Amino acid sequence: MSAGYFSALSHLECSRTGERSEADAVQGTSAAGAPLLARYDLERVRARVTREEIAGRAPDLWRYREVLPVRDPRHIVSLGEGMTPLLPLPRYGAELGVPGLLMKDEGLIPTGSFKARGAAVGVSRAAELGVRGIAMPTNGNAGAAWSVYAARAGLRSLIAMPVDAPEITRRECVVAGAELYLVDGLIGDAGRLVAAAVAGREGYQEVSTLKEPYRLEGKKTMGYEIVEQLGWRAPDVILYPTGGGVGIIGIHKALREMRELGWLSGELPRLVAVQAAGCAPIVEAFERGERESVPFPDARTVAFGITVPKALGDFLVLDAVRETGGTALAVTDEELLAAQRALARAEGAFVCPEGAACFAAVGRLRESGWLRGGERVVVLNTGSGLKYPETVAVDVPTLPVDGRIPARP
Ligand SMILES: *Cc1c(COP(=O)(O)O)cnc(C)c1O
Repeated sequence: MSAGYFSALSHLECSRTGERSEADAVQGTSAAGAPLLARYDLERVRARVTREEIAGRAPDLWRYREVLPVRDPRHIVSLGEGMTPLLPLPRYGAELGVPGLLMKDEGLIPTGSFKARGAAVGVSRAAELGVRGIAMPTNGNAGAAWSVYAARAGLRSLIAMPVDAPEITRRECVVAGAELYLVDGLIGDAGRLVAAAVAGREGYQEVSTLKEPYRLEGKKTMGYEIVEQLGWRAPDVILYPTGGGVGIIGIHKALREMRELGWLSGELPRLVAVQAAGCAPIVEAFERGERESVPFPDARTVAFGITVPKALGDFLVLDAVRETGGTALAVTDEELLAAQRALARAEGAFVCPEGAACFAAVGRLRESGWLRGGERVVVLNTGSGLKYPETVAVDVPTLPVDGRIPARP
């Protein structure tokens, strides 16, 4: 093991019962069927590393290695993920009445979606624990990310996705050599097929959302980065497009770890779970005052990455929102597509429809007064608009070669 490298991973903990389990073995969910959370010896981290030391490290997510699960750096599988820009959006922010609006742009990460974070850490740890193949249902981006990281790690990958998932994600899986199946249904249907297949396959681990503990650890680094990029201060509000909820649960976990480490003081930011009106189970549960969602019927939205009718970690999303004084709201496809276009025109950023949902939500929350004008608000743009070309209709003239472009537009 290289000198100085160290992970403070100590054990896994059931997110429902708190029951502990062994971290250095391949684990799925807890005995209670709930997600397992990785726990670290934060005292040791505090004694061994400072924020200033972290600032001097390479600009990728492995800069937070002490609070990541990989024990031996030789197992790290990296394509350069992490430390994405936190961009001010002054013009669009002013249009919305939120001049302190910022975008954490995950469109600039390998594979063009923040799923690369979960894949980098999840695949690295799976390889470290001796897994030989990973298997997962996906709405597209996660499958693409896990396929390429698995390829780089020399692992096999078995992926199943709905036929309606963004087409480019199929090609990403195929080019990386994944065994890919398209399913005429939703992500839950794909999940049932994958679970049945994995049961009979030696060496494969099922890595569905929150059914293994380490994808969450990769995604939590968004929380560390936002706080580090703001000079070790939290913003007032963070909005997140919520499907399975791993990102928002991860950011909440990161914030609490940083507070315990003494790296962050004061109030935690209010966390906002944004969903699409066509698939809003967590928003409905929030509004009903419940801690668990019910499966959302006939789920459908252009923001395909957040088409998750029932999330295993719904209660953790709801806890994150409530404990931080946040909220949950849904926007329509029409609203999110309008926001996608308005943002691109004002700031030159082509965001994915999921990210656009959060921008639409900022507008709504400012109008209602829930967001105050002077607040520092971070939107997670979880992916590049380039992965969703069909979200922009192109209605322009085609000219003959001897045609003429008008003197004025
Ligand atoms: C997967 C995905 C989401 C939702 O992420 P969860 O962590 O499952 O809530 C949001 N946006 C994009 C682009 C995605 O691919």
